[in-house]
Amino acid sequence: MSAASKSAGLNKTVRQHYLSLAQGAVCLVTYIWIDETGENLKCKTKTLNTEPIVWATAWSTDGRLVEVLLIPVRMFRDPFILDPNKLVLCEVLDSNRVPIGSNQRSQCDKIMEEVKEFQPWFGMEQEYTLFDLDGQLIGWLPHSFLVFVSPGFNRVVAGRLYGRNICISHCKACLYAGVKICGTNAEAIPGQWEFQVGPCEGTEIGDHLWVARYILHRVCEDFGVIASLDPKPSGVNSGTSGCHTNFSTKEMRGEGGLKHIEESIQRLSKRHSQHLRVYDPHGGQDNIHRLTGLSSTSHFHEFSTATACRDVSVRIPVHVSQKGCGYLEDRRPASNCDPYAVIRALAETCLLSTTE
Ligand code: ADP
Ligand code: MN
Ligand code: MN
Ligand code: MN
Ligand code: MN
Repeated sequence: MSAASKSAGLNKTVRQHYLSLAQGAVCLVTYIWIDETGENLKCKTKTLNTEPIVWATAWSTDGRLVEVLLIPVRMFRDPFILDPNKLVLCEVLDSNRVPIGSNQRSQCDKIMEEVKEFQPWFGMEQEYTLFDLDGQLIGWLPHSFLVFVSPGFNRVVAGRLYGRNICISHCKACLYAGVKICGTNAEAIPGQWEFQVGPCEGTEIGDHLWVARYILHRVCEDFGVIASLDPKPSGVNSGTSGCHTNFSTKEMRGEGGLKHIEESIQRLSKRHSQHLRVYDPHGGQDNIHRLTGLSSTSHFHEFSTATACRDVSVRIPVHVSQKGCGYLEDRRPASNCDPYAVIRALAETCLLSTTE
């Protein structure tokens, strides 16, 4: 047994005793922030008897270790050590109070302020895959190769699906925390899942998605597995992971909204490559391996759109086209995208840009 598996096996039932101890009038506040990679989360906990305060942390930049500021931006209930304890998502600013490079929220929030009269709503579909602590994709065995031939969506078959307890526990923990989780489903390969967050107005979607990711990693820690947001976790074209982003404005949601949806899609078609540069954390390098045109994906180099069809860049869901209003779905963002960068690009292209 590896050290990692041993640690996962540490007795967790005794923990209930400590959780039930009275903690006085103070509150444990877990600060959560996006680290230097722009892709991973970090956290640390402070005992407070006030609202969350600005706190500092170590930050590595150009090989040096400096101090930066953690600025609380949104608070949730802590589903792990329960009320009155809190999770607080933070923005990272340097010591001169300038947003650090990986802090995409700050710029996103400025754009959302500019477009707020459109009342932009977003909903994101986070796909992920489960690995055991020794780095094996759960359920990925040579003899199960057959299952990749037939799509596995929404599967309810023992032995062809792994991790439902994680999916459900994550969902409950999000609801307790106050994260706007709006659904879950099993995905294309065993051990691959999805949850949806939204709809949320503006920057809020990014805050809720990042905290939902934090909760997912913590739930997986308890179950002794790892959730991967790698867009191509298996190395083959089946079971790639995305983060479809659904978008609407007040006009799109109202009567005759389809016209406004089509107008936005027209604008998106003209800025395909600009969007793909910010739809994964590596300037498109992750998505180039995911968007192959196979297994319900579109082509990296080509914009496409359709109604009720899933191998396109941007789709109009069938229920939206039938109702004549609603939202569009951008299927290009990768599972490891930064939601702030994605929604900023959508708002800039659809609501601000004037260029043809
Ligand atoms: P799919 O059919 O693509 O799998 P899902 O049911 O997984 O769709 O996800 C739908 C997403 O659309 C959810 O995240 C939901 O919050 C979001 N959504 C629903 N209505 C709107 C809307 N009016 N504007 C933006 N997003 C929306
Ligand atoms: Mn220390
Ligand atoms: Mn979905
Ligand atoms: Mn999906
Ligand atoms: Mn989708």
